[in-house]
Amino acid sequence: MEGNYQQLIQFISEHAGVSVEDIERKIEAKQAKLSGLISKEGAAQVIAAELGVSFDKQLVKISQIVTGMRKINLIGKIINLFPVREYNKNGRQGRIGSFVLADETSNIRTVLWDENHIDLIVGGNVAKDMVVEITNASVRNGEIHLNSFSEIKPVEKKIEIVVLQKPTIEKEIVQFNPGESVSSRAFIVRMFEPRFFEVCPECKKKAVLGECVAHGKVNPEKRALLNFVIDDGTENIRAVMFSNVLEKLMSQQDLENFEIFEQKKKDLLGKEMLISGQVRKNQLYGNNEFIVNDLVDINLDELISKLER
Ligand SMILES: [Zn+2]
Repeated sequence: MEGNYQQLIQFISEHAGVSVEDIERKIEAKQAKLSGLISKEGAAQVIAAELGVSFDKQLVKISQIVTGMRKINLIGKIINLFPVREYNKNGRQGRIGSFVLADETSNIRTVLWDENHIDLIVGGNVAKDMVVEITNASVRNGEIHLNSFSEIKPVEKKIEIVVLQKPTIEKEIVQFNPGESVSSRAFIVRMFEPRFFEVCPECKKKAVLGECVAHGKVNPEKRALLNFVIDDGTENIRAVMFSNVLEKLMSQQDLENFEIFEQKKKDLLGKEMLISGQVRKNQLYGNNEFIVNDLVDINLDELISKLER
């Protein structure tokens, strides 16, 4: 491994016209800036990208991907395809496509901005369960982004075993990075009022006044979301959970009854739990937020016996 690393530095040095010593210094600085969260190899890739050294024709594995990489190429299987969304922001409008791409090492959310790429999704030429090759993509906030200079095309290759669940790592909140699946033992320190909305029973998308964009008048299903703040002593983060997770703490009726909700809230505030989810960057405010997909009571007996071992 050490040999690979030296080769990598040599390669970057030759292609960027920067001395090996300078590159090693940059790598150390990058690692320090990211609190040692990325390996030397990972930091070297980021430095290479910053210096404009590309790894053309080299395929990266998803587990090797770190934020800041540019011009990367990879092959993966689409394990989850999301509906194309339209946006209209600051007078600019367009469509965004996204899916989860997996290989044998991990999986990652992939975002498409180019109209031609989005047409591939709309036309079914890029679809769920397909293996695709992506070239010239970049990595932002723990996600792969494709622009009009990127390419995506289905390939014949078969990937038999893909990582469907993102491996969850236990971390302190201060070390959370966008795009990561993490869990943390933390206290619930604030809880906001629940918010309610309705979804179409067929496509599960938001239904406004009983009307779905795709299915017209429907008999909508009620959903709730709850914003709260967790703190583990290193940092706090705003978290959100939706009905499927919220059910573990309280029923829909509990949520809708002000007095019951206030009581439940009182019981939960100050409670320490093991909370898992996905870290996302809030595009509007630029801060990190935590999309919770599970939370469990800390089992003290279990914890003590674990500590005693
Ligand atoms: Zn619908």
